[in-house]
Amino acid sequence: MTLRVLIAGAGVGGLALAQALHQAGVAVTVFERTPSVRAGQRGYRININRAGGDALAACLPPELFRLYLATSHDEARARVGVFDHRMHPLYATDVGVDGTGAPRDHTGVNRLTLRQIMLAGLEHEVRLGQRVVGFEQTPDRVQVRLADGSTAEGDLLVGADGVGSAVRAGLLPHMRIRDTGVRCLWGRTPLRPALRDQLPAPLFDRVAVAVAPSGHIGILGAYRTRRPHLEAAAAVTPTVSLDPEPDYLMWVLSKESSGSEEPWRTASSAELHRYAVAATAEWHPAVHQAVREADPEDCFVQNVRVADQPPPWPAGRVTLLGDAIHPMSPAGGTGANTALRDAAVLADKLTDVRHPARLIPAVAAYETEMRQYGFAAVAESLRYGERFAETIRRAEKENH
Ligand SMILES: Cc1cc2nc3c(=O)[nH]c(=O)nc-3n(C[C@H](O)[C@H](O)[C@H](O)COP(=O)(O)OP(=O)(O)OC[C@H]3O[C@@H](n4cnc5c(N)ncnc54)[C@H](O)[C@@H]3O)c2cc1C
Repeated sequence: MTLRVLIAGAGVGGLALAQALHQAGVAVTVFERTPSVRAGQRGYRININRAGGDALAACLPPELFRLYLATSHDEARARVGVFDHRMHPLYATDVGVDGTGAPRDHTGVNRLTLRQIMLAGLEHEVRLGQRVVGFEQTPDRVQVRLADGSTAEGDLLVGADGVGSAVRAGLLPHMRIRDTGVRCLWGRTPLRPALRDQLPAPLFDRVAVAVAPSGHIGILGAYRTRRPHLEAAAAVTPTVSLDPEPDYLMWVLSKESSGSEEPWRTASSAELHRYAVAATAEWHPAVHQAVREADPEDCFVQNVRVADQPPPWPAGRVTLLGDAIHPMSPAGGTGANTALRDAAVLADKLTDVRHPARLIPAVAAYETEMRQYGFAAVAESLRYGERFAETIRRAEKENH
């Protein structure tokens, strides 16, 4: 039998699943609400941990995986260091996000570049500008409803449509997504040589968490591609077109929201940038300089929302992956990695389905596995956030 799988969302998880299924000969259609993968942010750095890297290797055809490697961040160790706002080390810095300091082949990527790589070869499968608004399932089929009034039918619908998932709203309407009250203000700054030479070395070989007595936590990490993107694409897979991407420093200011005022809620990107510049005035001078040099257009705010684990639900013709089912705090750097892992696990189960009667058991097997590691990752991300908050409390106490 040839399965027909419908996927809502062409994010990292949805595209990885589409690549894996397409390679395995499964018919797949992806509906993405935005008209282009460039819509919204220009791209930000994503740490790739061991689970995410293994999943990418499993999902992508070899030449696309080679292109991913060629455009990945040039540091082989995924270490995390905790510093004060002047960039003085506060505690152990050699253990990576995956719990080891061991070097790996690849440790990070620019999200837009990864999505452009994963779109390659799926030009007929991905329908851009098509928003999923709902679905109907019968014992034999699932029908997805799109915002333009059209519908599409398949054997299975996968909601890979992110934290505000329309598919989750239909499948698990009572599932609670909790606002943690933590707000993250993100920005990025091109690494001009003069700036790069002044920035502290740990910003280039690890992700630096900077704890400021003002109550802000900074997260700073460079993205330096191994090969310029156009050169890498031309050498590895000339048919893939990538946007050029300058090396950049990604920075984040996070803080607990102060309740009703929520000054960041309605702020423009220029106002957010001004806020970040003022908030880092006392930080390491080169870090402050980097924040000043950012393009205000690249600044945006994310409300950190996490999933409360729902009781197990019966498997059917609709399932979920990535942020659609287990959104987590960015403190752990594992949201995208877990979405990639979901894609690899689900693809593995689906490619074994040779008879219609095996489909729902395959979905059930995926969901059982995913619930376990997915919600463990949510809990772990909250523990990371709490550890940083505790360091802030200590720094504030020492300051008084
Ligand atoms: C600045 C930043 C840095 C991060 N850094 C890291 C990191 O270092 N490591 C890490 O593991 N994670 C990181 N994350 C988290 C990570 O980006 C997410 O967890 C990951 O993108 C989730 O993947 P996903 O495929 O589930 O959803 P998404 O990537 O959010 O994709 C969802 C897609 O669905 C589309 N969509 C939404 N609704 C609909 C609809 N109704 N119909 C059709 N399409 C729809 C959206 O447009 C989007 O393209 C970071 C997040 C941010 C914001």
